[in-house]
Amino acid sequence: MKILVTGGSGFIGSALIRFVLRDTDAQVVNVDKLTYAATPEALAEVEGEPRYAFQRLDVCDGPALSRVFAAERPDAVMHLAAESHVDRSIGSPAAFIQTNVVGTYTLLETAHAYWRGLEGAARKRFRFHHVSSDEVYGSLGPSGRFTEATPYAPNSPYSASKAASDHLVRAWHHTYGLPVVMTNCSNNYGPYQFPEKLIPLMIINALEGRALPVYGRGANVRDWLYVEDHARALWTILSEGRVGATYNVGGDSEQRNIEVVGMICDLVDELAPRPGAPPRRELITFVEDRPGHDLRYAIDAARIRAELGWRPRESFATGLRKTVSWYLEHRPWWERIRGSSYDGSRLGLGCEAGAAPAPRRPPSRA
Ligand code: NAD
Repeated sequence: MKILVTGGSGFIGSALIRFVLRDTDAQVVNVDKLTYAATPEALAEVEGEPRYAFQRLDVCDGPALSRVFAAERPDAVMHLAAESHVDRSIGSPAAFIQTNVVGTYTLLETAHAYWRGLEGAARKRFRFHHVSSDEVYGSLGPSGRFTEATPYAPNSPYSASKAASDHLVRAWHHTYGLPVVMTNCSNNYGPYQFPEKLIPLMIINALEGRALPVYGRGANVRDWLYVEDHARALWTILSEGRVGATYNVGGDSEQRNIEVVGMICDLVDELAPRPGAPPRRELITFVEDRPGHDLRYAIDAARIRAELGWRPRESFATGLRKTVSWYLEHRPWWERIRGSSYDGSRLGLGCEAGAAPAPRRPPSRA
C-alpha cells in the first residue's frame, strides 16, 4: 500500500509518517510546500528509508500534483496540508483561503481524475482521507459535546476555511462518488509542535523565564489529544473507516487554558528547577483576548470507539509530561525557530487584517 500524505512535514503529518513507517509496511510519499510551519527535522529518522519519498510542492499546483499521482500511483491520499494557526488567520486570512480551500479543491480534482483512471481492485481500494478540525462546529456553552451530526458554525477565518474544505470533500463524494473518509479532531499537542501554539509557547516561555501570556482570563476550554494517539486514529480510520463517513477524534481531556498553563508551570518547575527562583506560575500574565475566541470545544468520540475500537493511550497528565520533557531535550530545535521564523511575539489581534505575511512585532510582554 502506498499513501500520498500532504503536509507530512508538519506537526501531525510528521507524527503520522513516523507511525506509518514504524508500525505498518506501507510506503509513504510526502508532498509538502515546506512553509514556515514545516519541521523537516521531525522526519530525520525516516530519511534514507526506502519506503519513504519526498516531493516539495504546493497543493494548489494542479499540474505538479498530477505528475506525482502519475509517477507514484498511490492507493490512498491523506490530506493534512493546511495553514493551521487561528491567530495567523485573523491577521492574514488570504493564505488560509488559498491553501485550505483552493488547495483542497485542487487536490480533489487531481485525485478524482486519477481515481477515474483506475480499474478493478485498485479503484475499489482507493481512499481520499481528509483531515480536519473540531473548530468547524463553532463554540459550545458549558455543557454538551460535538458529534458528527453537529451543524457547522465556524467562527474564525481558519475554521471557516477548514469548514469549506470539508464541504468540498463531502461534495466530491456525493457528486462524483470519490471514496472519501473525513475526520474532525480536537486540539493536538506533543513533540515538534511549532512554538506559536499554546502548549509549546508556554513550555518555552516558562523555560526562558518569560511572561506566560494567557488570553482573556484563561477560561476557554479545549479537549486535548496527544499527537501520537491522533496518528494512530488516522491510520485506523483510513484502513477500516466507512466510505463517506465522518469520524470525530478526541481525547476526553477537557481543560481550561489556565489549568493547562498551571500544569505546564508545575512540570517545568519539577523537570527544570531554578533554585531560589519564584515558581513559574508567577509568570502568568492575562492579556487581551483573541477576537471571536470560541469558549469551549469538546468531542464526543463514541463513533470511532464503537465502530473502530480506537481509544487514546495517553491521558492529558501523561501526554503533557512527555511533551514538556521532549521540549527540554530538544532545545536546539526550538531555539533555531525562536531565532529565525518566529520569535514568540503576539499574533492575531485583528489589526493586521489583509496583511501577508503576518508582521513581526517586538514582544509586547515584559
Ligand atoms: P502544521 O501547520 O504543523 O503543518 C502543516 C504542513 O502543511 C506544513 O508542513 C506545511 O509546510 C504544509 N503546507 C502548508 N501549506 C501547504 C501547501 N499549500 N502545499 C503543501 N503543503 C503545505 O499543521 P498541523 O498542526 O500538523 O495540522 C495538520 C492538519 O490537521 C491540518 O489540516 C489541520 O487543520 C488539522 N488539524 C490540526 C489540529 C491541531 O491541533 N494541530 C487539530 C485538528 C486538525
